[in-house]
Amino acid sequence: MFNYISPPQIVLQEVPSEISLLFTITGCRLNCLGCHSPEIQNAKFGTPLSCEIFTQWIDKYQALISCVVFFGGEWQSQRLIELLKISQGYKLKTCLYTGKEKVSQAIIAHLDYLKLGPWVESLGGLESSNTNQRMFNVKTGELLNVRFLR
Ligand code: SF4
Repeated sequence: MFNYISPPQIVLQEVPSEISLLFTITGCRLNCLGCHSPEIQNAKFGTPLSCEIFTQWIDKYQALISCVVFFGGEWQSQRLIELLKISQGYKLKTCLYTGKEKVSQAIIAHLDYLKLGPWVESLGGLESSNTNQRMFNVKTGELLNVRFLR
């Protein structure tokens, strides 16, 4: 079980052309210099995200959203996969934002979108043309970074 920051947020920018419900999972171990949200590194921060609670949130918002986004959670891959499967059961698309450079095929098999790469302050996030981060449409292999440029 991992914790999340409650409540989840409806977001429009994180996945191009999707209305997403965003779950931020705590316990990130990457320790990026200049981390934008240091509290996310504390696994005890937030509240437990059980399958039941997750399903309640999806039930509440399913008519409004097209995608479910996880900020992190890949460090408990079986748990994350369980929640991705529940999302897919609702015919919702799925996305993972990770600071890692790669994730397991077992996770990728349940994703529509994947953002890879740690935060590097000097390079900026996806909205920066110099960024080290990459956002993919997993199904087509298309690199989506251009959709974030300002
Ligand atoms: S991946 Fe994100 S949350 Fe994790 S340490 Fe890096 S900036 Fe912070």
